[in-house]
Amino acid sequence: MSTGIILKRDMIGNPAKLETGWQAARSRMAGLPDGGLNMAHEAVDRQVMAGNGAQTALIFLGREGQRHEMSYAELAGNAARFANVLKAHGIGKGDRLFLLSGRVPALYAATIGALKAGVVVSPLFAAFGPEPVRARMQIGQANVLVTTEAQFHHKVAAWRSEMPSLRLVLIIGEEAPEGCVALGPAMAAAPDVFETQATSAEDMALLHFTSGTTGLPKGVVHVHQAVVAHAETGRLALDLRPGDIYWCTADPGWVTGMSYGIISPLCNGATVVVDEAEFDVDRWYSILERERVQVWYTAPTAIRMMLRAGDMAAEGFDFSALRFLASVGEPLNAECVLWGNHVFGKPFHDNWWQTETGGIMIANTPDMDIKPGAMGKPLPGIEAGIIDRNEETVVEQPDGVIGELALRPGWPSMMRAYLGQPERYAKCFVGGWYLTGDLAMRDSDGYYWFVGRADDLIKSSGHLIGPFEVESVLLEHPAVAEAAVIGIPDETAGEVVKAFVTLKAGIAQSGALEKELRGHARKRLGAAVAPREIVFRETLPRTRSGKIMRRLLRARELGLPEGDLSTLEGESR
Ligand code: AMP
Repeated sequence: MSTGIILKRDMIGNPAKLETGWQAARSRMAGLPDGGLNMAHEAVDRQVMAGNGAQTALIFLGREGQRHEMSYAELAGNAARFANVLKAHGIGKGDRLFLLSGRVPALYAATIGALKAGVVVSPLFAAFGPEPVRARMQIGQANVLVTTEAQFHHKVAAWRSEMPSLRLVLIIGEEAPEGCVALGPAMAAAPDVFETQATSAEDMALLHFTSGTTGLPKGVVHVHQAVVAHAETGRLALDLRPGDIYWCTADPGWVTGMSYGIISPLCNGATVVVDEAEFDVDRWYSILERERVQVWYTAPTAIRMMLRAGDMAAEGFDFSALRFLASVGEPLNAECVLWGNHVFGKPFHDNWWQTETGGIMIANTPDMDIKPGAMGKPLPGIEAGIIDRNEETVVEQPDGVIGELALRPGWPSMMRAYLGQPERYAKCFVGGWYLTGDLAMRDSDGYYWFVGRADDLIKSSGHLIGPFEVESVLLEHPAVAEAAVIGIPDETAGEVVKAFVTLKAGIAQSGALEKELRGHARKRLGAAVAPREIVFRETLPRTRSGKIMRRLLRARELGLPEGDLSTLEGESR
């Protein structure tokens, strides 16, 4: 696991040595005049009030090479216009707004504007197919959708009338189909001032969806005071400083793209680069050079793709502006950390967190030596442990022993609920710990090392995928009797989705059917979630209670020990 190499800290630590701890971090928030707290106010309005309105907040890089800057003052104005559009349609505090669009300016104005109006924001990944979109909007009881005309037609129009809660569909652009409202003209006609809704620290602000091993996706509830953690951890773990040019490559449809792609950098007074296009080695190197990016937050899959493209691809680029490189979302191999040092002259700083924690928990901060391959240490104010659990008790494990990574609850961005699922939420807490579902180990220097997931969730290109959601879509196909979905290792994406299916009686296995099933899954789920490979089986291993044993399928697939088979029902392989 360990390479034995230690990269000594490069003495670039944050010069603003502020007091750490949540109390101190809270005291650095501006707060609302009446004592409330609002994420949008902290991220944008406060910068304008402090006289930084002219600074560029967002630099949008269009797919076709367009470049557009938006200052903090312009963002504040656009957000206010958006909030007024919502108000004019009777949308207000506590209503739920879903975002389904690529990384375009309207998405950012809508996010800040909705938060300002006290409306809960739920970002969706624009590459989701119709099924994940519908499931999440259904669970979240969507009231508003902000999307594009193409996305609306492709993914929403067919079932819109079946979702009575959805009162308003705003279409980005100048025109909208019947029953929807065009956002361009509506914004243009709206006033650019809006009094921030008096939200309290504990009012719901963000609803992020994450996958579960069983059942439908879980709606993870975050409240306005999560902003305290967003601001503080951006400073501590990403070294964000006022005026920095910062690029977070994550899409706001995932929690990283919201917490650290929008809220945290704006709270820290940074200028945020937003690229509309997808990953491309040459494009990314050009962006780092041309925009003079200083702080860069990306993910292992992208780093591995750059590494594979070879050093030649990076030759001739000027990366001298880069000061701090960070990575999140999947295990970052030691090789990638060292490669960063080689090509950019700076190592990647791995950090760990998850949708439920709302912010970075464990990190290689600027003032720490890096052990390549380790996730780092808990941030100030975070207590982590490695535990062995059974139903009701937990036992803390000593250094060097693998167990489940657990955290002591109490930081500001901790999830407050799984929407509508109190029992599932309660199950995350045992013996005063929040259980993360990850397996890890702490070494004698206090560094945490990722080992794997304790459950069946799949991490593909940084996206957490629930097998149940994929299996459900496969089962919709008339030929399929049963389906089981697992993750198998992939050199670039970390894992890719593989499905095993049994067919209904009388239906023959064929290459054409396999292709059809893959096409069906892709259409319903979107390419990021659909299985890369589907294989047919006569039977699938099940427990006596009827649950498909994905773990066993995976062990067999990878030639790993099959583990405890005492609950396995008789089956032919
Ligand atoms: P998500 O909630 O989609 O952000 O996924 C969170 C999960 O991603 C964690 O529970 C881990 O399994 C994985 N993850 C996040 N960061 C890291 C990291 N630095 N190293 C290894 N796995 C990570």
